[in-house]
Amino acid sequence: MATPHHTHFLVKPVGPICNLDCKYCFYLDKRQLYPGKSEAPVDWRMDGALLESCIQQVAQTQPGELHFAWQGGEPTLAGLDFFRQVVRLQQRHCGGRPVFNGLQTNGLTLDDEWCQFLANHGFLVGLSVDGPADLHDCWRLDRGQRGSHQQVQRALVLLRKHGVEFNTLTVVHRQSVARALEIYEYLISEGSRVMQFLPLVEPGQPWSLEGPDWADFLCPIFDLWSQRDVGQVFVQLFEVALENWLGQPASLCFFRKQCGQAVALEHNGDLFSCDHFVEPAHQLGNLQTHQLQWMLASPQQKQFGRNKSERLPGQCQRCKVLFACHGECPKNRLLKDENGEPGLNFLCAGYLRFFGHIQAWMEAAVQKIRSQSNLGLPPLGDRLRSASAAAGFLARPADS
Ligand code: SF4
Ligand code: SF4
Repeated sequence: MATPHHTHFLVKPVGPICNLDCKYCFYLDKRQLYPGKSEAPVDWRMDGALLESCIQQVAQTQPGELHFAWQGGEPTLAGLDFFRQVVRLQQRHCGGRPVFNGLQTNGLTLDDEWCQFLANHGFLVGLSVDGPADLHDCWRLDRGQRGSHQQVQRALVLLRKHGVEFNTLTVVHRQSVARALEIYEYLISEGSRVMQFLPLVEPGQPWSLEGPDWADFLCPIFDLWSQRDVGQVFVQLFEVALENWLGQPASLCFFRKQCGQAVALEHNGDLFSCDHFVEPAHQLGNLQTHQLQWMLASPQQKQFGRNKSERLPGQCQRCKVLFACHGECPKNRLLKDENGEPGLNFLCAGYLRFFGHIQAWMEAAVQKIRSQSNLGLPPLGDRLRSASAAAGFLARPADS
């Protein structure tokens, strides 16, 4: 994950094209932005010159280590040769600086050759898995409307076999809520030690959460994690909460004060303010005709970043957990607040309860971390895992 002062580049090598047909996917519809193309990935694959320009410009505009997140649709549909070219171009243009590649995948195309490549080049794989078979297969269906869990299970075996570093991305839908602990234990049993849980908000759809559901899901996992797994299992949401409690910049945009540090690059060079705002009103330009540096620094992108805090409704501005929540993602701000002002997050009821639930633990962790820092222990890093690794270490002083 990019450090807070970096821009996070989400690159879509085949745009919104995918080999699954997940019912809740928000990105498949982006095909409509590019009419006239077939469904074949080859019709969408980013061309070599654009890829080279992308890598060159990212290297020129970003300080220090470089982060690329390859996403889709399903990015592996660009083919392994595309990613071999990525690595060659990064070696050519990044001047020996540390380069981090993240690949978000549904796992269907992974085989031994892919996994060997990913391991050899240190890609961090984010595997989409929504839990045990029936929960995963609720909504993650293939084109024939069959579940895809078996194939994900196969991908997990391959990732482990080749020692590929991976984390899991679990979309939390309505059917998941009552089975939070089962999902958490399942992910651990499959070797996941870094977990991302993403709440599904699509009011009116049978898969969508309601606000309180989110706390019903998170609180039991937090309780088990805090009693048993701190420092061993890394749940992104808990890490980020601790960062905010510590007063550090949050490593996940949802819980940062401002947006604007995670841009999405479509297959043809179109650059958008954020992956969740890939729409004409939020297009910053095109990499083939505009300088990346100019687009990142544009007034439009700066304003997009500020909108997150400037458009908070009064209820959020007065909220005692604003420092941890920041009104979460603007895409989920679908409600009116207590005074009828628009912009309240759809999950507000869940966040209020969740942040209240973890408050005592967080405050105790902050105290421990601060007192240990005063003893001259190394400062906390700002990368994912650092915060809870420190808390886990400090939670067991007798072991140290
Ligand atoms: S918990 Fe609710 S009121 Fe508080 S900042 Fe978050 S969305 Fe706003
Ligand atoms: S709009 Fe949401 S996903 Fe995009 S940068 Fe802001 S918080 Fe992050």
